[in-house]
Amino acid sequence: MQLRVAQVVEDTEAEGPGRRFALWVQGCALRCPGCCNPEMFAADRGGQWHQVEALAARVLAAPEVEGLSVLGGEPFEQPEGLAALVAQVRAGGRSVMVFTGYTLEELRARRSAAVEAALADIDLLVDGRYEAARPDHRRRWVGSTNQRLHFLTDRYRADDARFAAPNTVELRLTAGRLTINGWPSAADALRRR
Ligand code: SF4
Repeated sequence: MQLRVAQVVEDTEAEGPGRRFALWVQGCALRCPGCCNPEMFAADRGGQWHQVEALAARVLAAPEVEGLSVLGGEPFEQPEGLAALVAQVRAGGRSVMVFTGYTLEELRARRSAAVEAALADIDLLVDGRYEAARPDHRRRWVGSTNQRLHFLTDRYRADDARFAAPNTVELRLTAGRLTINGWPSAADALRRR
């Protein structure tokens, strides 16, 4: 099983609770205006194919990492690969957070075994299109006020103090390449400078 991956940050504190292995998939047909990752729209070019088993092994090999966050791009455009990855990560005892542009209702309406399998192994789901005109300045990790944070398991609770901390942006310089990740509105503003 493979996933087409645009970017990996192996240890970040800006993409979910605690220190996380963050993975951005390649390909998104939704194309929300103002999306901060338009280079990840094309499903047929960009990014690289990775074996899911190898990705899961990298997550589980990081002792300080609390869990995996999957962003995009659109994770549910690769539901089989997503389901395989999140199953292996959760079987290894780590948590899973996924950001999708589809609503949970849209995902359920697909009646897809792969989608349901993926949802069964996701602890936290942020859903809905990104609406640039409605930036969310209050909730951590959430891009716009229409988006919802679903607690699909009891691994996390809404009163976890980490959920109330301010949004953060990380800048990372690796081999001469600057990458920015974190709160979408702020990350997008920084990229435009
Ligand atoms: S769903 Fe996410 S990746 Fe896709 S266009 Fe919207 S904000 Fe960008």
